[in-house]
Amino acid sequence: MHSADISSRALRFFENRGHTVVPSAPLIADDPTLLLINAGMAPFKPYFLGDVPPPYPRATSLQKCVRTVDIEEVGKTSRHGSFFQMFGNFSFGDYFKEKAIPFAWEFMTTSAVDGGLGLPEDKLWVTVYLDDDEAERIWRDEIGVPAERIQRLGMSENFWSMGVPGPCGPCSEICFDRGPAFGRDGGPVANDERYLEIWNLVFMQSIRGEGPVKEGYPILGDLPSKNIDTGFGLERMAALLQDVPTIFDIDTTRQILDLAATLSGAKYGASVKNDVSLRVVADHILTSVMLIGDGVTPSNDGRGYVLRRILRRAVRMMRLLGSNDPVVHELVAKTIQVMGTAYPELVSEHERIDRIAVAEEAAFVQTLKAGTTIFDLAASEVRASDELILPGDKAFQLHDTYGFPIDLTLEMASEAGLSVDETGFRELMEEQRARAKADAVRRKTGGHGDSGVYRDLLALGPTEFTGYTALESEAVIR
Ligand code: ATP
Ligand code: MG
Ligand code: MG
Ligand code: MG
Repeated sequence: MHSADISSRALRFFENRGHTVVPSAPLIADDPTLLLINAGMAPFKPYFLGDVPPPYPRATSLQKCVRTVDIEEVGKTSRHGSFFQMFGNFSFGDYFKEKAIPFAWEFMTTSAVDGGLGLPEDKLWVTVYLDDDEAERIWRDEIGVPAERIQRLGMSENFWSMGVPGPCGPCSEICFDRGPAFGRDGGPVANDERYLEIWNLVFMQSIRGEGPVKEGYPILGDLPSKNIDTGFGLERMAALLQDVPTIFDIDTTRQILDLAATLSGAKYGASVKNDVSLRVVADHILTSVMLIGDGVTPSNDGRGYVLRRILRRAVRMMRLLGSNDPVVHELVAKTIQVMGTAYPELVSEHERIDRIAVAEEAAFVQTLKAGTTIFDLAASEVRASDELILPGDKAFQLHDTYGFPIDLTLEMASEAGLSVDETGFRELMEEQRARAKADAVRRKTGGHGDSGVYRDLLALGPTEFTGYTALESEAVIR
């Protein structure tokens, strides 16, 4: 079953059950707490909070999502993309658990000829939140899931929030048992590759405040109504239905991956390391195209930095895989060809997307050329001295003089078997910032000081890669 078929079946199924089909919102969130849309519910947040009256009681959508918190997982797990599409059905104070659970079950298990997905019932496991007797009862008594395939999990797995203050609630996840080839048995646990989490049904009923995500959130109270927010990853569902091992092997993404293999000369399936890199390239190019398509341009902070980071990472991986020529032009064209039917705006914006991506590749290749020699030299010095830590001042020099963002240095160091004195690096960054600030104040207050041209530059402060903090403060979603 093609990805496009899965999503149109899902939308049709829920449309036939009274849901308004809502097109995907752009990735640039209309929400100051969110850098990029990272879940299907994000565009509907004001309806859940009761800030805006919902124009429809039920909605369904296929939403473009970017999760920067998953970037490190991409390619290493079978199931995390930095870009993915989340299908969802939503109820704004209309139905609750009693309908959301049967809807999801019916859609998944109805045969393909009858408009469903035809997933085998005996491979499906479900989880519910620790104290959610009601959800467990529905699964067991109304749907007929055997008690031994229903598990209760704690807050980190079965209580959903956007990771930031806002709507939240207990959830119930549906997992598919991919069999012993994918790991140990016994049912879903956190970060499971065998019991692949496919669909999350969130019973959105509370509102949370600030607080550490891991230790439980301070729940501020109830939302004005009891709502439903569900989400399944289209790519994960496609991987199951196409019987392929990862989301990078599905009908769409695999075409980008295959081109990356052809362009670099690396054979997919020949080595674990290269396979991870090829998946990263396919994923990152896809994400870059979707981001540029929605108006993000590469820069040194915020969303622009997310784009810069992943696009450059894809370029670098291609070089490591063996390609010495520019690759972005062709990879972008393939991605637009693959995704253009679902997102026609990519086709009309092809020229602009290509221009921005290709220029970023060219700029990065220059940076790499200049900095790599310095990095290699520093790395061999470190090794010769029996130390395995790249000093903070080297990382600072690479950043300051050669435009190497710290994450690039960290990645290259880790590939070379080294770590980086990040504390030292950050201290130097801080010193530089403080110096620039002091200079700016001195000049303003007429204190003595050179009037050299560099002063102005310094006053602007160092190039600051706020991507790091922006990424950290971004919504963490489980
Ligand atoms: P996981 O535990 O596997 O990281 P999650 O619990 O973080 O997933 P949810 O926030 O519950 O995921 O999102 C709902 C659904 O979206 C998931 O059940 C999954 O199908 C899909 N999904 C989540 N993150 C990703 C991702 N990075 N790439 C692809 N699909 C994803
Ligand atoms: Mg989940
Ligand atoms: Mg999960
Ligand atoms: Mg996750």
